[in-house]
Amino acid sequence: MSLKVCKFGGTSMADGNIILCAAKIVEADEARRYVVVSAPGKRFSGDIKVTDLLYQASAQQEAGDIHGFEDTFEKISARFLSIEREIGKNLGVQAALDEMKAAMLGGAGQDYCVSRGEFVAAHIMAAVLDVPFVDATEFVRFNEDGTLSEETFDLAAKVLKKYPRAVVPGFYGLGFDGKVKTFSRGGGDISGAIVARGVMADLYENWTDVSGFYACDPRIVNSPKCIGELSYQELRELSYMGANVLHSESIFPVRSAGIPIRICNTFRPQDEGTYIVATSSREVGDGVVTGVAGKKDFTVIFLEKSMMNSEIGFVGKVLSVIEKHGVSFEHLPSGIDTMSLVIDNEYLKNGILEKLVAEMKEAVNPDKIYIHEDIALVATVGHGMARNIGTSARLFKALSEAGVNVRMIDQGSSELNIIVGVENEDCASCIRAIYHEFFEN
Ligand code: ADP
Ligand code: ASP
Ligand code: MG
Repeated sequence: MSLKVCKFGGTSMADGNIILCAAKIVEADEARRYVVVSAPGKRFSGDIKVTDLLYQASAQQEAGDIHGFEDTFEKISARFLSIEREIGKNLGVQAALDEMKAAMLGGAGQDYCVSRGEFVAAHIMAAVLDVPFVDATEFVRFNEDGTLSEETFDLAAKVLKKYPRAVVPGFYGLGFDGKVKTFSRGGGDISGAIVARGVMADLYENWTDVSGFYACDPRIVNSPKCIGELSYQELRELSYMGANVLHSESIFPVRSAGIPIRICNTFRPQDEGTYIVATSSREVGDGVVTGVAGKKDFTVIFLEKSMMNSEIGFVGKVLSVIEKHGVSFEHLPSGIDTMSLVIDNEYLKNGILEKLVAEMKEAVNPDKIYIHEDIALVATVGHGMARNIGTSARLFKALSEAGVNVRMIDQGSSELNIIVGVENEDCASCIRAIYHEFFEN
């Protein structure tokens, strides 16, 4: 019999009725034996995810803002209690909330606090399905540097072997210090992949609120084309660049075992969805571009110096400046006498940008150094591009016709993607123009 792991995201855990739909999906197929859940997400636009409320409550507790904390905790309690009411049976939510509050007030720390959304959600799903709850701390382990530890996979196999069926909370595990540690936001997708690898599933089903991975963000283009199949590599490029329907790191646990991922819609379970596989079987006739995605808020540090190309160690010195500050870069386009460093703004807060510029001047004495802030990166991705002449000509013509000013271009040597840097405010029109050129023409 085939074995499936189902991960239900926050959109599929948002209220009691949706949780009951998710449970029905699990019960409809006896291969669906392991379930991973997120904390309740938004029920409507403008609503607040439980995880965001938990981050807020934790910050208020740390700042000593007890009134603020009480207010926020009240909202968290109301979310979980209304879920219990909608499901219509006693699921022990009040006791879980009391325990959570005591731990938060006792200074349990941010990661512990924000992990409680999935902890309680998984207890609820376990009770609804009448399946054992297995805590993620039993097998998800992190290294000292915060990366996922390799021992996780053997431990997952060993622990989960004891349970023919289980419900596991997503988003967290146990840190090197023995305390609860979370993944980055959206990390429940990684937890699902870990469970899939641990039990050697035939399929990892990721249930969400859209009918698959679309060729671009449905919030930017109305009803974009759904991608039937995409490769692990294409998924990584697109999700890293903003197509956050699936976390970009979700493929690592399943890649070596070749377990396919299927994106499915909890609200339309009959839809085929998208399969994410090791090697895509897309043909050239399926289109040269698989998808397009964009991410805002980058800064470009542009350096110019005559004869830069022959100055041994120039790039190394520039990179050691950013390394010293623990900053990583996204791209490094270069010319004969120029180089640019594209850096996520997250790294450049609290005066770090100014420090980097001063230290680069000192280290390499450039003729010019400019800063371009508020840059968005837009990636056009597809294995088909490597076999197709004229793709970039079409792309740049489309951007010029749409009046989008391209500030930077970078094409990976694999020809899997073309990345352009544009002003933040042009990000959506850039994505629309590329989508229109490759999918609507
Ligand atoms: P979940 O709560 O199930 O984890 P997420 O909000 O994390 O759901 O991911 C689903 C959302 O991702 C969709 O509602 C959609 O708005 C957004 N999204 C962004 N880019 C894409 C894309 N290329 N294809 C599908 N959805 C996308
Ligand atoms: N609940 C977490 C978040 O909102 C993790 C997840 O949903 O995957 O980021
Ligand atoms: Mg998600």
